[in-house]
Amino acid sequence: MMELLDITENALEKELCDHCLGRLFAQLGHGLTNKERGKALRVFYSMAKTEDEPFEVPEASDNCSVCYNIFKELDHFASLIVEELEPFEFETFLVGTRVDPEIEENEELLWSELNVSTSKPIKSELNREIGKTVLGKIDAEPDLKRPDVKAILDTRFDTVEIELAPLFVYGRYRKLERGIPQTRWLCKKCWGKGCEHCDGKGKMYGTSVEEIVGEPLKEMSFGEDFTLHGMGREDIDAKMLGNGRPFVMEIKNPIKRSIDLDMFKEEVEVDDRVEVDSLCFVERKKIEEIKEAAVDKTYRVKIILSSNVERGKYKKVLHSLKGTKISQRTPQRVSHRRSDKVRTRELKDIRLERHEQEVSELVLRCESGTYVKELIHGDDGRTKPNLAELLGVDCDVEELDVLKVHY
Ligand SMILES: [Zn+2]
Ligand SMILES: [Zn+2]
Repeated sequence: MMELLDITENALEKELCDHCLGRLFAQLGHGLTNKERGKALRVFYSMAKTEDEPFEVPEASDNCSVCYNIFKELDHFASLIVEELEPFEFETFLVGTRVDPEIEENEELLWSELNVSTSKPIKSELNREIGKTVLGKIDAEPDLKRPDVKAILDTRFDTVEIELAPLFVYGRYRKLERGIPQTRWLCKKCWGKGCEHCDGKGKMYGTSVEEIVGEPLKEMSFGEDFTLHGMGREDIDAKMLGNGRPFVMEIKNPIKRSIDLDMFKEEVEVDDRVEVDSLCFVERKKIEEIKEAAVDKTYRVKIILSSNVERGKYKKVLHSLKGTKISQRTPQRVSHRRSDKVRTRELKDIRLERHEQEVSELVLRCESGTYVKELIHGDDGRTKPNLAELLGVDCDVEELDVLKVHY
């Protein structure tokens, strides 16, 4: 108590506004603003000093030596922010400030002179007070953790910087046609600028699932760019069927966030090569969730045999494969980009769907990360066991489709 009185007495010798006086004790007393604290301290001080006759309450300074009365401009600052936020659609916001370094020096000097340890920096009070004033002018909620939009005000120059949180939409996609990569595949020679190698397109394929799904969402949200985060990927020449592959589409700097997802689906499906389902808005952490998920997949594979195999034998071989652990050394086709190692995956189910002479179709279910083509043709013995070896004929994979991602 005496210490509080001593510090207050010393502080009152400085020219301070109520905000800066109160903020010296910002960590004391809950539910008060610093301005209220400052006022209360002056009253408290005058009462403590009153002896024979009342000691007059010391007045707040109109020429604060710490903040130069910056708090008189709260309404002005809030209006600047509201104006800058105008073009954007958001439900939650956060205000940040950049303050004149001189003001920050002033207050640090004061802390050490008065030897106080109960203060808080002026920025935190400005953020809160400007935020409260903004709140009175717009229809949105403050959010400290994940605001849709962040407005950073520089109090020296009256400028406002806006940071927009990305928009994340979860869904599942089906790719009904072969030959479309999952993501944009930039030209390795020019990295997107356009050159002779890529016919000036900057990319190696006409389009991708990422573009077919991302462009409409980018347009609807007036965003800047998009990224598709998929739960694994299928080969360019594989269809993705069944209930589709889970993905999160990220839109950078969206101006509009309340997207009609049914309309989004319609816009995507204008291109009849891709369909989307199960669309919903999610938070960023969903990306990690789908990236980390290791789920089984069911495939249909069409095989051309080098010569016909008797049906009974074929079925016996498949039966022997069912439930086995497949040992796979990194396939030759990906060895240039993946380290050489051996890994084991379980083949949970495999059955014959069609068998006409040299042409057959299998449906198989295996663990996440199984190299299916190699399981069929053997990859020169790098995958063991493999179908070709057990059948005693060469097996060429003609088509490979994903029927189900078991998520
Ligand atoms: Zn002040
Ligand atoms: Zn190029």
